[in-house]
Amino acid sequence: MREDVQQLIKIQELDQRIQVIHKELERIPKELDLAQERLQNDAAGLASAKSAYQQNEIATKNVDLDRGTRKTTIEKLKVQQFETKKNDEYEKLGREVIRYEEMVDELETQELELMEKSDQCRESIVAAEALLAKTQTIVDEEISVLHTRSDDRKNELADLQETRITENTKVEEDLLADYTRLFIKCEGHAVAAVNSERICSSCHLQVVNSTFIAAKSGESIAECDNCGAILYLT
Ligand SMILES: [Zn+2]
Repeated sequence: MREDVQQLIKIQELDQRIQVIHKELERIPKELDLAQERLQNDAAGLASAKSAYQQNEIATKNVDLDRGTRKTTIEKLKVQQFETKKNDEYEKLGREVIRYEEMVDELETQELELMEKSDQCRESIVAAEALLAKTQTIVDEEISVLHTRSDDRKNELADLQETRITENTKVEEDLLADYTRLFIKCEGHAVAAVNSERICSSCHLQVVNSTFIAAKSGESIAECDNCGAILYLT
């Protein structure tokens, strides 16, 4: 194989790795966002559970106040009933007492239901707190791993770029310019193998015989007739 093609393969391997690292570094902030999002979702779940509990507490207090007011009214009605001398008034007040007592019964039932709901709300809070704590641990670990990976890749990238500068100097400028253009055009496969069936490994199409012979002899740089990739024989 021609020495310059061999050198280009070396450069291409560096460039392919650089490309992979760039893609990975682009992905890391998105992965960090996703981890934070999961944490925010669980925090929102806890806030919602706490809010439901508070609403229930307010409702319980209101029912309790209502019940107290009705009871005071019953006491007043009973005093009025005791004091009245009129028979019809006495009966009317008696009916009112019964009506208010029914209201108190209804409010007591409501209060019991709210107390039951309060227990459920407390259980929901405990569950949401446990879930948030668990997610926090997982997310903390994930964030730490992502930061470490980011640092590692950045260091590796710096090393690769430095190596690439040195390796670039070992190839003729025109050929390097050709390669650089082809690396973009052929999506990372500027230098490609051609097999005995004359199939280019970059575009997977067959090259003409003269191109194949050129790649085989190595007398000049052989380029694929279809995609333009610099060819070497496997
Ligand atoms: Zn090709």
